[in-house]
Amino acid sequence: MNAGLEGRDLDVAIVGTGFSGLGMAVQLLHDKQTNFVVFERGEAVGGTWRDNSYPGCACDVYSNLYSFSFAPNPNWKGNYGTRAELVEYLEGVASDFGVTPYIRFQHEVLSAHWDDWIQRWRIETSKGFFQARVLVSAMGYLSDANVPNLPGLESFEGTTFHSSRWNHDYDLGGKKVAVIGTGASAIQFVPEIQPIVAQLDLYQRTPPWVAHKPDKANRGLNGFLTKKVPAYQAARRGFNQWGREVLVFAMSHEFTMSKVQKMSEDHLKKEVKDESLREKLRPTYVSGCKRMLFSNTYYESLTRPSSDVITSGVREVRPTSIITEDGVEHATDAIIFGTGFRVTSRPVAERVWGRNGKHLADVWSGEQSAYLGSAIPGFPNFFTILGPNTALGHSSMTLMSEAQIGYVGDFVRKLTRQPIGAVDVKPEVSKAFNEQVQTWAKGKVWSFGKCKSWYLDANGKNTTVWPTYTWRFRKLTSRFNLDDYIVEPPTPPQTLQAHVVEMVSATGRLS
Ligand code: NAP
Repeated sequence: MNAGLEGRDLDVAIVGTGFSGLGMAVQLLHDKQTNFVVFERGEAVGGTWRDNSYPGCACDVYSNLYSFSFAPNPNWKGNYGTRAELVEYLEGVASDFGVTPYIRFQHEVLSAHWDDWIQRWRIETSKGFFQARVLVSAMGYLSDANVPNLPGLESFEGTTFHSSRWNHDYDLGGKKVAVIGTGASAIQFVPEIQPIVAQLDLYQRTPPWVAHKPDKANRGLNGFLTKKVPAYQAARRGFNQWGREVLVFAMSHEFTMSKVQKMSEDHLKKEVKDESLREKLRPTYVSGCKRMLFSNTYYESLTRPSSDVITSGVREVRPTSIITEDGVEHATDAIIFGTGFRVTSRPVAERVWGRNGKHLADVWSGEQSAYLGSAIPGFPNFFTILGPNTALGHSSMTLMSEAQIGYVGDFVRKLTRQPIGAVDVKPEVSKAFNEQVQTWAKGKVWSFGKCKSWYLDANGKNTTVWPTYTWRFRKLTSRFNLDDYIVEPPTPPQTLQAHVVEMVSATGRLS
């Protein structure tokens, strides 16, 4: 290849160093693939766990399961990993598996265009141009904050920030703090900040179902076995993984979901004695329709005299206060947005252009879909890890991520060992798969549960959650079936060389 492209003409470019990006890199190294890089816009690995540094940030899925099967961690301090432990775990994966030298920190991928002539992705990063035969987006879907455009917000004189960009320099001590949102993040940080602020106003649009969190330290015999006996940890992981599959069955029936909901109902009753507050906090939808939440401190923190749960919507923000729909003015020093992420309009779509200049944002403007959450017709050699319909309401995302990593890894092995230039998923295969997903989604709690959630897009369609068992996803992704793709032979070397030379001299930018 052209000398100017040395180190920049890659077999694989991975974007992101969260679970998925690091896992993908581990897979490539395991397969003895070394001509790849991992682009990371930040200065450290960890993805969403690096970004979400809010007080109390932790995982509500068992750490034994919320980790890679190939990298068990004997050092988990309890059932659930804290954010610090998860970041440490991911840093450990990056260094122990030799991924770190392949990471290009502070390289934000700005755009990627497929070039049919050279059968490569032309990638523009904030630190220059690269090209790659395969592009893997491991950007996740919890990366770009959703901050509502509240009327008058720009006039607010106090401090504002989103939970995923916590302002640690701002001292919340003694302040009147407004928290907007009551999702998975807010229920974790609210109990942490409540004791230090003067007044906590929690703006609740929809109350969540919150159940008791069976949080236990890994001590005594359990701690010993976790640390010293890998088979013990593996057995617990397997038990948890398969036990959670039962929830898929439960999610298909109102009766079984009412039994699951009972856990949260009991928790609410036990924690909140004041009936009027309890009624405010009681959801009207079926548990599981929105993500099920777990906390032993959330409800209790809202029973404190300095806490107020405000259910009237925000009408206007003024320089030092918030006016709610009921006309009440609430003095406010700081607004913290626990308002989630842009999940159904993924940031990756803005940056990727496929065959014939097709913009992924346009392709996904009606609704997002992909074959096995991974491949999109018209976007050759491009894969999204944790793409459409791969989020889970009942189990660990790492299961889905790992399944896709294996799938893409199988493709890269085939690409580098067989005379393949490009693969493009057959539109009819992708369509049939997505119809099947919608069939699986029918009659599940997201449709009968009577709620609005980020699981559904603007048209009320589930384009986000994998609506059935995880074993089914693992089975479907267990091997990369070339029959599902239009397979194109490699561009002849002379065409490739001529085109690259032409491109370099035309733009002068690749060297
Ligand atoms: P979220 O679950 O999407 O919750 C966002 C909250 O903000 C909801 O209460 C929502 O109300 C509210 N909201 C959004 N826009 C609003 C507006 N314009 N006005 C008023 N309220 C508004 O976001 P998140 O809590 O950041 O969590 C996102 C995801 O991160 C979770 O679903 C989960 O997958 C992941 N997470 C996981 C863990 C873990 O332990 N594994 C921890 C934290 C986060 P509505 O309900 O009415 O829409």
